[in-house]
Amino acid sequence: MKLQIGKFEINIIDCGTFRLDGGAMFGVIPKTMWNKTNPADELNRITLGLNATLITGCGRRKILIDAGIGDKFDEKYSGIYGVDNKGRLILDGLTKLGVTADEITDIIITHLHFDHCGGFTAYQNGESKLLFNNADIYLQKEHYDAGINPSERDRASFIKDNLAPIINSPRLKLLDGPVNELFEGISLRPFNGHTKAMQAVIIESEGKSAYYLSDLAPTASHVPIPFIMGYDLFPLTIIEEKKEIFDEMIKKDAVAIFEHDHAMPAAKIIKTEKGYRAEKLI
Ligand SMILES: [Zn+2]
Repeated sequence: MKLQIGKFEINIIDCGTFRLDGGAMFGVIPKTMWNKTNPADELNRITLGLNATLITGCGRRKILIDAGIGDKFDEKYSGIYGVDNKGRLILDGLTKLGVTADEITDIIITHLHFDHCGGFTAYQNGESKLLFNNADIYLQKEHYDAGINPSERDRASFIKDNLAPIINSPRLKLLDGPVNELFEGISLRPFNGHTKAMQAVIIESEGKSAYYLSDLAPTASHVPIPFIMGYDLFPLTIIEEKKEIFDEMIKKDAVAIFEHDHAMPAAKIIKTEKGYRAEKLI
């Protein structure tokens, strides 16, 4: 899917799908409610997208946000998570757009959970290596600290072979809080509800804007405020963060990009007397 936001061309790259437990994805919301929009399979799992994003239209820069789950896992793991991404890895997506890995100048990692950063690396001769050797890598320092020293609660989301090539890269730039205009028109803002210092990406040009929300609202079904994930470390924090960012987006008439929505990767957010919801782009 392609969006034009002022001077920026935003390509949402479909890096396949995977499956997570529907109950875990919707926290305290009963299945009778979420199963209507996100039907569960026989193992109670729902299908989630893996939407990376490439930003061009800013001179020589080619900026990649997240990279899907990648392929550094065995059949058992792939079965548990129902991974379906053959032929849709990040390099496949870039090739379709006529872009090579070496042309990527900048990588923004929203956070180090495996379904967001796994695709930046692949095994070469049995060793996990970065696929993008000419890119600076941007990550929040506080999240880096949380990733290398994870809590018992989210330890399983941080996988050594995903993290090592990133945290050992000489191109890694650790950021200390929000960054207004990392590059002209592209800002980063950390949020703490899902995990420590996960960063959302705000893209603005010529009065238009798009927000790459990462796990602040993983799918369009997560726009209503109480629809938050059981995985969120700080549920009351994410509730406040969602309201704040959605109000800002509504004011700007911004486009929301949903990293895990395989059916609706982008939408507008609207607020009615019943609360916030996602509305199809026209
Ligand atoms: Zn995620």
